[in-house]
Amino acid sequence: MSRLSLRGVGRSFDGVRGGAPTVALQPSTLDVASNDFITILGPSGCGKSTLLRIVAGLDAPSTGEVLLDGEAVRGPGAERGMVFQSYTLFPWLTVRENICFGLREKGLPAAQQAEIAQRFIAEVGLAGFESHHPKQLSGGMQQRVALARALANDPKILLLDEPFGALDNQTRALMQELLLSIWELHKKTVLFVTHDIDEAIFMANRCIVFSARPGRIKRELAIDLAYPRHYTLKTTPRFSELKAQLTEDIRTESLKTAQMER
Ligand code: ADP
Repeated sequence: MSRLSLRGVGRSFDGVRGGAPTVALQPSTLDVASNDFITILGPSGCGKSTLLRIVAGLDAPSTGEVLLDGEAVRGPGAERGMVFQSYTLFPWLTVRENICFGLREKGLPAAQQAEIAQRFIAEVGLAGFESHHPKQLSGGMQQRVALARALANDPKILLLDEPFGALDNQTRALMQELLLSIWELHKKTVLFVTHDIDEAIFMANRCIVFSARPGRIKRELAIDLAYPRHYTLKTTPRFSELKAQLTEDIRTESLKTAQMER
């Protein structure tokens, strides 16, 4: 059985003042196995975030259903951890308190909360920053806290929506390596939305390409590169071949979007 199943999941939004509805996502079907690292690539506005929000239970599909370990998703849940592009930490809480947030909600004893938080603080390389507040941290560090906060709840699946999109290239590359090492260590299942082709290839074992708006899954590309992945992979011939294929796909879809907008 798949860890996550999307069965004809589609989403339309009502039109403004009686106008035509907006189709954000055409019915899409996808099976995600345990320990898959799936990147979702597509032009902007094609429904990537909509799909992720539906899996997170932050939005409901207009058609179809989402099953997690065979159970229908009906709302948000701790077994799905989400990291967004914009910094979503609570500014009035320290690093440690932010990471403990979900654990406290669950009612875990304080000593256990502290132990779990400390483990993930170390894993994301933030030892020494436990008592800092978000505004005292760089963007990359804030995203590491967000990642630690999601992982602390021990989710079955991690949902990441352009989590490194606001970071400079160097920090972004380091964050990709950090996430990959965490994924390999904890054997998590990951759905990762990005519009960066290099990022989509470097991290994934499967890359899903969306069509132009209104989006649907256009094709899937198996990323046949061995793990663990080292940054030098980005200069290998196979990486370039995969990049050429995806660049062609995304260009075709982006052109369609541009024509629609004209
Ligand atoms: P992506 O993440 O691929 O950039 P989104 O999933 O954010 O795309 O959006 C897909 C489409 O759905 C866009 O045309 C967007 O304007 C529309 N959309 C998203 N959310 C809403 C909403 N709450 N109400 C109306 N339209 C929406």
